[in-house]
Order: sequence, then structure tokens, then C-alpha cells
Amino acid sequence: MNYFPVFFDLTGQKVLVVGGGDVALRKISLLERTSALITVVAPDVAPELIARAASGKLQLAVREFIPADLDGVRLVIVATSRRAVNRWIANLSESRNIPVNVVDDPEASRFIVPAIIDRDPVLVAVSTGGTSPVLARRLRERLEALIPRRIGELALWLKALRSASRRKLRGTEERRRFFETIVDGPAAQRFALGDAQGAERIAQQLLATTGAAPRAAGDVTLVGAGPGDPELLTLKALRALQDADVILHDRLVAPEVLDLARRDAARICVGKAAGKEGTTQEEINALLVKLANQGKRVVRLKGGDPFVFGRGGEELQALAKAQINFSVVPGITAALGAAAYAGIPLTHRDFAHSVSFVAGHAHGQGPEPDWRALATPGATAVFYMGLARLDHIVEKLLQNGALGELPAGIIAQATTPNQRVITATLATIIDASSKANVSSPALLVVGDVVALHSTLAWFGASAAVDLSRTA
Ligand code: SAH
Repeated sequence: MNYFPVFFDLTGQKVLVVGGGDVALRKISLLERTSALITVVAPDVAPELIARAASGKLQLAVREFIPADLDGVRLVIVATSRRAVNRWIANLSESRNIPVNVVDDPEASRFIVPAIIDRDPVLVAVSTGGTSPVLARRLRERLEALIPRRIGELALWLKALRSASRRKLRGTEERRRFFETIVDGPAAQRFALGDAQGAERIAQQLLATTGAAPRAAGDVTLVGAGPGDPELLTLKALRALQDADVILHDRLVAPEVLDLARRDAARICVGKAAGKEGTTQEEINALLVKLANQGKRVVRLKGGDPFVFGRGGEELQALAKAQINFSVVPGITAALGAAAYAGIPLTHRDFAHSVSFVAGHAHGQGPEPDWRALATPGATAVFYMGLARLDHIVEKLLQNGALGELPAGIIAQATTPNQRVITATLATIIDASSKANVSSPALLVVGDVVALHSTLAWFGASAAVDLSRTA
């Protein structure tokens, strides 16, 4: 290791920058984030520098460098366009033991300036030892995406927690374990997701219950995986997947989505294949509780949105009863994904002022849908899980006042490369569906807005744009 990494406290320290061009300006901008006393010496200076000097941010001497400029200086950055001048100033600085950096000349430099990720007070510095600034920048960009945006605030919060922990926990060992539990566990995760109050609540719970070693408490994040296209995942869903120890997922979740999870996260499929017995809801609830109690970070991944026909509510009730921490990341529900990718606006000022999401198979389970309201003109109805009961749905709508010519469509495997859209009318949709031989998962959409598909389709085989016209 040729370079020893340090972070230099420049508060109130004099820093000299020689040079007034763009390169110097970049370094000056960086220095301005500190409380250093910046002096710039250059015979020619960019107008922006003059403006900054006028606002008192830095001292500017518009002239050639003279050796006396080094008096009382703690750090020197040299960025003139003349290599010989740069080296001369570097030698002078060296002989006076003042650390010097010559931009783009590591050989002449005593220190080099890393690529940084600045999430004050957290600072990540990347160096390739001067071999390749481009490589350092690329590395930084990758780290940038990995490091939670709120990590600086997290650090400040942890600092604030220190005094509370000192009051409650006596031993240093005990405190270390407490902070490990906070940083590795749901508290910090919550903080990173923007729920500072939730994080504080967990921390206070931990402090209150910690006499002995805090048990690493696991938690469950209920995550919506969206309708199929993996790019419809939210950033929060992605982060949860990358933090997970174990993922319990439904059969509907696309393999491409699971591929985005942390590589060594255990994946458990708890979905039911059509006609086959899967894991029962009670078994899933029990498994979630068990894994969380083992201290695991559990992601419960569901197709679409977890609170839309996803039984997410029931799972959370089980977790609440077992006093396990949980959070919810919403997903794009199938109706929204399918409508967008089929070019069927669910509401439209001219055609529809309301939209309902209806469980198509809900016979005997829960209340019967309000068929009269669903059949009302100006209402859009989206039926989930309705394919098997298509006859029944159509019959009910017709019985309750819907017209046979009301547009109706089926969107199968929406947002995936296999998406299919079949449009017809209420009178003809059963026939059209069996002719087209559509396969699940599929949605039935009923309402005048379905007619817009013919002009607004943009995705897949049914795209409305006639490409031959542009040829
Ligand atoms: N929680 C999910 C719905 C689960 S119920 C959500 O919010 O989307 C399962 C039903 O969702 C399926 O029977 C089907 O009607 C619908 N569905 C899910 N993914 C779909 C897709 N890609 N295309 C069409 N329908 C889909």
C-alpha cells in the first residue's frame, strides 16, 4: 500500500490552490464543502472564481505564484496548465513539508484526492492509487447505488442514540451489542426507508427490554413484486430483496424478480399451482413467525400489491399477534400494470369516473359484489381471478343492467413478453376468450374505456402504431 488513507480535518486551516481554470475550480468546489480557509493564486481566473471571491468564500490573488504563498499553508493543490510550474511548486512544498497534490500528476504529488461519496457525515473514498481515475469513478458509481441515501442521517441518529444507550446500558460490550442490533436489524433498515419514527420506536423498545443481551430480533417486510415486468419493482422493493436473509414468494412472482435478490438469500416458494394443494395460509403465517423469531430478515414477496387480493392483511395480523416487527412495500397491482401496458386508461373524463377491483371467484367467500354498481355506465370494473368464472360474471352484469355491447377485454400475462389482450363486448367476450385460448393469470376489464385499446395500445403484438406507415 503506497497510500495511507486518512481524512483530514481542515477546519480553519489554510489551503492554497494554484491555478484558476476548470480543473482548479473542481477542486475548489470540493474544498468549499469543508471549513478550510481557501486561497487561490492564478494570473488568469475563470469569472466564476471572481464571483466566489467577491462573496467571501475564498481569497483570490490574481497574479503568478510566489514562494511566500506557501507561508502558513497546511495543504497545497496545484492545477496550472504548465507542467514545469506545477513541479516547481510541488518541490517547494515538499521541501517545506507541506503535503501537495498536483492534479493528474501522482508522481509529483505527496497525496492524491480520492473519488468520494459524500453523505455527510458519512464519507466513502475510493482510490486506485492514481492508476485510473475513470476506474475509481465507476467504482464510486456502483457504491453510490448500494449505499442508502439516508446513511448520513442514520449516522447522526446513531450518534444521538449514544447518550440514551449510555444511560440505560452500563457495559461497553452491552452497548456494542445494542448498536450492532440496531445497525444490522430492522431499526436501521426502517430508518433507511424513511421511517425515522419507526426506527426510534424499535430502538426504544430494545433499550427498554435490554438488560441482558438483546436478542437479534428478525422482522418481516411484506413486498409487492408488481405484475410481472421486473422493472416495475419499486426501489424500496429492490432494497428489501437485497437485504433479505430469506424470501417467501408466491408462484406468480417472476423469476427475473427473484434474480434481483441477494444471491445467498434462501428462497422458498409457498404458492399454489392451479389445482394443486400448496402451503396453506396457516402454514405460511407460522413459517413467517418462526423465521422472524430466528432473527432472520424475512421478505414476504407477493405478486402485484400485497394488499390487493394478496392476503397480506391476514399475514400481518399473525405477525402482530406474535409481536414481530413488520413493514409493507406496496407494489403495482395487476390492474394498474395491465391497464397501462394494454393502453386502457381505467378512468377517462369522457368514459369512466370510477374504477373497481373485484375478486371474480368470490362465491361463498365474503360479501357478493354490488353487481348493479359494477354494471352502471361510467364505471370501470376489473375482475381478478375471474377467468374460471367468466360465464357467471357476464351473466350477473347483464342481469343487473349492463348492455350487451358494453366493451369488455381480457388481459393475460400482463406486462410480460407473453402479454395478450383480447377485446370484445360483454355479449361476445366468452366466445372470444375460448377461441383465443387465453391462459392465466388474466384480468377481465369491463367498461367503455376498453374501446380505447384500439387506439392507445403500445406494448406487444397489439400495439396500435402501424410501423409500416413509417417505412
Ligand atoms: N396481489 C395481486 C393479485 C393476486 S390475485 C395484485 O395486486 O396484482 C391473482 C390474480 O391477479 C390473477 O388471477 C389475475 O387475475 C391477476 N394477475 C396477477 N398478475 C397478472 C398479470 N401479469 N396479468 C394479468 N393478471 C394478473
